[in-house]
Amino acid sequence: MLTGFCGFQEKKMNFEELNIRPEIVKALTELGITEATQIQVKSIPIIKEGIDLIGISKTGSGKTAAFGIPLLEKIIPGKGLQAVVLAPTRELAVQISHELAKFGKYLKYRIATVYGGVSLEPQVQELTRAEIMVGTPGRVLDHLNRRTLDVTKVHTFVLDEADKMVDMGFIEDVEVVLKAAPRDRQILLFGATISTEIDKLRQRYMHEPQTVEAEQYVEEDLLKQYYYTVDYRQKFSLLVHLLKTEHRGRAIIFCSARSTVDMVAKNLHKQGIDSEAIHGKLSQSKRLSIISDFNKGKIDLIVASSVAARGLHIDDITHIFNYDLSQDPQEYVHKIGRTARAGKEGKAITLLSERDFQQFSQILNRYRLKVEELPLPEFVRVPFDASRPDSGGFNRRFGHHSRDSHHGGGGRGSSHGGYGGGDSRRDSYGGSRGSSYGSSEGRSSYSSSRPRSREMTRRKD
Ligand code: ADP
Ligand code: MG
Repeated sequence: MLTGFCGFQEKKMNFEELNIRPEIVKALTELGITEATQIQVKSIPIIKEGIDLIGISKTGSGKTAAFGIPLLEKIIPGKGLQAVVLAPTRELAVQISHELAKFGKYLKYRIATVYGGVSLEPQVQELTRAEIMVGTPGRVLDHLNRRTLDVTKVHTFVLDEADKMVDMGFIEDVEVVLKAAPRDRQILLFGATISTEIDKLRQRYMHEPQTVEAEQYVEEDLLKQYYYTVDYRQKFSLLVHLLKTEHRGRAIIFCSARSTVDMVAKNLHKQGIDSEAIHGKLSQSKRLSIISDFNKGKIDLIVASSVAARGLHIDDITHIFNYDLSQDPQEYVHKIGRTARAGKEGKAITLLSERDFQQFSQILNRYRLKVEELPLPEFVRVPFDASRPDSGGFNRRFGHHSRDSHHGGGGRGSSHGGYGGGDSRRDSYGGSRGSSYGSSEGRSSYSSSRPRSREMTRRKD
C-alpha cells in the first residue's frame, strides 16, 4: 500500500553514496543505519551545498539525521559555536543532542543542550565549550539576552519541528535568535507541514530555500491501522480488554486532553494495569524520567497527551491506542508514527465513539491512510471513575469538564444497550466486518454517515 505519491519509487542510497565522511558512516553503521530514508536522500546533498532548505516529512522519517549528518560534517572542533538547533520541547532537544552525539561518535566536538526549567549555570558552562547547541527557543533567548550565548560565528541554524514551534507560540523567540545570527548563515527548517507562518519565516529569513518533501507518512507495510466503533460508555472497557488480549510489547495510549490522561491512567491502575501518565503539566525531570524508564523497559505502558506525541524518540513500540482524537488531524499521523519505526512492525488502534467521527473524517480527508475497522469483540464491562485524580476527595462526576467526563462509570455487567436503536450512525459506520478506509473505495460506510470530500488527496497547506 502506498501512502504517498512518489515515496517508494525513488532511488535507494546508502550514506557512502551521499558522500558522508567515513567517521560518520562508521557510527551510523554501528547504529544499524545504512540506507538513507527519503528525506535524507533529498536533503543531505542540498544541505552539503550550503543551500537553505525546507524539509517536510512525517514523524519517524529520519529528519534528525537528515539535518544532523550534514551539520556534523561542517563543524570544525575548537572553533566556537557553529551550529544552533532549535526544537519545540525539552525532550526533543535532549533527543536531538543524543542522536547527534551518536552520529558523531568518531568526531570531536561538543554539544550544549539548553532548555528551561533547570538552572542556567551548567548550561552556561557547556556553552563556553560547545561547537553545537541544541535548545528550546525560550531558554536560548534567555542565554542570548544574558550574553552567555554568542551566535556570531554560527553558520548553520536548524529549526526542527518548525510547525510545532509555531503552534506553541515560539515564533517570535525564533525570529529574535535568527536576527542575532550572521546574515549569511544557512537555515534548515524541518517539520511535518508548511503553514503560512512558516512561509513568513521563509520569506523573511531564508535565502532562496529549496523545499523537499518525503511523502511517506507512515510505513504502511509495517504499520497496520485499525479502529473500533464503540459507545463512549464502553470505551474504557474495550481499552482494558485490548490491553489484556492484544499480544503487545510496549504501548502508548494517547488521549486528547490532559485530564483524560490522568483519568485513564488512574482507572487502568484499578484494573491492575500499570502505566505512567505523561503530559505537558508534569515537571521536566518527571517527564524525562518516564521516557527514560520506558526506553529502558522499566515500564511498558504510557498514557500520553498530544504534547508527548511529537518527535519523541521512543523505540520498539508495538501498539498505539488512540483513546480519542485531537482537534488537529496532523496529530493522528504524529501519534501513529510513534510505532512501526526503524523497520519494525506496529499497530495503531483507534477507539471511535460518535464524538470522534468528525475528527476521524477530517484525518481521512487530509491524509491517504488505510484504516481497517475491526468488529467489536466480546469484552467485560469495567467501571470507569471519571472523578479527577487531583480533585482532593471531591468525587466530581460527569459533566463538569465536558471533554473528558464522558464515561458513564461503565456500569458493571451492563449490556451493549448503550448503542440503542436510535444510533443509526453505528449501523452505517461500524458493523461491516473487515471493511477498510483505503485511499480509494471501501470507505462507503463512512461517507454515508458523514459528508466528506470524495478525493483522498493530500492537502499541502
Ligand atoms: P523524525 O525526526 O522524522 O520524526 P527521527 O529523526 O526521530 O525522525 O528518526 C526516527 C528513528 O529512525 C530514529 O530511531 C532514528 O535513529 C531512525 N533512523 C533515522 N534514519 C534512519 C535510517 N536511514 N535507517 C534506519 N533508521 C533510521
Ligand atoms: Mg524529529
